[in-house]
Amino acid sequence: MLNGRVILYTGNGKGKTTAALGLVFRALGHGLRVCVIQFIKGKGEYGERLFAGGLDSLEWHVCGQGFVFKKEENEADRRVAREGFRLAREKIESDLFDLVILDEITYLPHYGFLDVDEIVDLLHQRPPRLHMILTGRNAHRSLIDVADTVTEMDAVKHAYEKGVKAQKGIEF
Ligand code: ATP
Ligand code: MG
Repeated sequence: MLNGRVILYTGNGKGKTTAALGLVFRALGHGLRVCVIQFIKGKGEYGERLFAGGLDSLEWHVCGQGFVFKKEENEADRRVAREGFRLAREKIESDLFDLVILDEITYLPHYGFLDVDEIVDLLHQRPPRLHMILTGRNAHRSLIDVADTVTEMDAVKHAYEKGVKAQKGIEF
């Protein structure tokens, strides 16, 4: 019986990636095996990655080169994104995980790095019991339709607007 859930965290407000990480924490507590794949983001010193390195049952992959701006999109970004997606497919099809996170995946169709149907097809083809979390702004309608649970983070305000720089332990 299919009991895997697809959860999508989107919107402009802060909290999408960290909501996904909250569920990673919860899932690991129950002994679930978790794989996190991060698109777009580069290899920066994110606190969650530093912490994740010491955890069993958690695999973590970074498949990005840093922020992509639409006007500057280029072949290298596309290649890295597509390689990341191939890795995601491999991890999902391996059936070795109970929860797979595709962090910032919404940007891949948004920037035209891949067709949204490739993501939708992968979600349909996954092992039926596998839970998945997708994050990122500007989620395509097809991703909203295929997800079981969708939460839109609303940017009511953000300290950044007051000129507060990204804080260690809060933003990264
Ligand atoms: P977080 O990783 O904190 O959960 P997020 O995944 O919702 O944030 P992203 O769109 O991935 O947000 O943004 C990446 C970075 O920008 C994070 O450091 C995040 O804290 C910060 N951020 C998120 N929302 C805003 C906003 N509305 N204004 C400025 N910075 C933001
Ligand atoms: Mg994020």
